[in-house]
Amino acid sequence: IPPSNHCRHVGPALLVSRLYQPSNLRDLGPDSRLPGEMSCKSQRLMQQAGLIHPSNPGCYYYLPATVRSMEKLVRVIDQEMQAIGGQKLDMPSLCSADLWKTSERWDLMGKELFCLKDRHGADYCLGPTHEEVVTTLVAHQTTLSYRQLPLLLYQITRKFRDEPKPKFGLLRGREFYMKDMYSFDVSEEAARETYDSVCGAYARLFARLGLRCVQVQADTGNIGGTLSHEFQLPADIGEDRVLVCGSCSFAANTETLSPDRTNCPQCSTGTLVESKGIEVGHTFYLGRKYSQIFKATFSNHQNKPAVTEMGCYGLGVTRILAAAIEVMSTEEAIRWPGLIAPYQVCVLPPKKGSKADEAAVQAEQLVHTVGQFLPRLRGEVVLDDRTQMTIGKRLKDAGRLGYPYVVVVGQAALEEMPKFEVICQQTGETMFLSKDGLLDLL
Ligand code: ATP
Ligand code: MG
Ligand code: MG
Ligand code: MG
Repeated sequence: IPPSNHCRHVGPALLVSRLYQPSNLRDLGPDSRLPGEMSCKSQRLMQQAGLIHPSNPGCYYYLPATVRSMEKLVRVIDQEMQAIGGQKLDMPSLCSADLWKTSERWDLMGKELFCLKDRHGADYCLGPTHEEVVTTLVAHQTTLSYRQLPLLLYQITRKFRDEPKPKFGLLRGREFYMKDMYSFDVSEEAARETYDSVCGAYARLFARLGLRCVQVQADTGNIGGTLSHEFQLPADIGEDRVLVCGSCSFAANTETLSPDRTNCPQCSTGTLVESKGIEVGHTFYLGRKYSQIFKATFSNHQNKPAVTEMGCYGLGVTRILAAAIEVMSTEEAIRWPGLIAPYQVCVLPPKKGSKADEAAVQAEQLVHTVGQFLPRLRGEVVLDDRTQMTIGKRLKDAGRLGYPYVVVVGQAALEEMPKFEVICQQTGETMFLSKDGLLDLL
């Protein structure tokens, strides 16, 4: 596609007029929910901004800006998982019922499993989680040695759960992205070390995203095992109830607790404070629950077969994205963790026919220059070329979409020492900077 006449320096991929972001920033009222589904701020904002589009209950189109953000989130997750030795793989979503019957979870999962039959009448489910599938894989390797452990395998794939009440957009879908990691260790002690190292990686991940998550003791549910923690992001619409002690490190999901929700069971002097949270991650120490059943063994120091000790660790990838928007945004405007904003900078050229019209060229050049001098921002700077609209209107849109930096190229860009108006979304600050000043800031 040839770039439009007006934009010689900027390819069509970076022109706001060409982005497939079917936004309804002005049209949709606060009550833009699917019939019968409960909605929330992040869902409304994401639909209005053309980030997601509802398909059927609990299923969404992830539109291009969301995919960009997801790819960035996946990159950060990959970095943190690989830093602790995680190796990425990709397992089938179509899972044989035999595995699930062997672990006795076929019935236990009940209606939450999406079940189907193939042409031969064999039962399958669409993977809601992969303990059975990954343990079968590891069991297959008869030569696994203690020297190769701990083994940490993870994937980032779609999961399918027939939730009784899909709601809140990407926060509770029936089809969603999860990062699920599984660890295999030589002993309980080693497995607990691995468990702690994954919890550390989760804490670093959330810190990098600027999300203040709380690690709380949790129920092991139908995954099983004996030790479990959730990473809860405090939010009004959170469906979990979390108790945190004011005096010690105790924090737990109310699902684990005795009925006493006031006195801390750990220090016994502290008072518990209850708040709502969104579960964005969950870690489990599984012991031998699956490795015993599927015979996932390794050869130990004495060269004898021994059963591996397992852990499993989930992160709700699409849920993290929506939860971040939920807690960071205002009612009107999306705010992202800087690391995962779909685009980092939006440049606004002057309105066509206005006094500053000539500065349009400076705006295009600016997009080009940023990419040239800051390779990290290549493809991250968009030009809002809808110059039939006033600066004010486009500024409002840019504010609602939450680009971390918005640069207005107006009258001041035509002066002898050209200056650009820069709005930093995170701090709300507005600055007038020279080109070099802007490059320094970015
Ligand atoms: P919830 O209690 O919210 O139903 P869960 O405990 O059933 O979640 P896990 O089995 O622990 O979920 O899955 C790991 C992670 O996957 C969760 O911590 C959450 O972040 C994410 N997740 C689970 N269900 C959904 C869903 N329906 N939509 C989006 N993300 C989900
Ligand atoms: Mg659930
Ligand atoms: Mg839960
Ligand atoms: Mg859970």
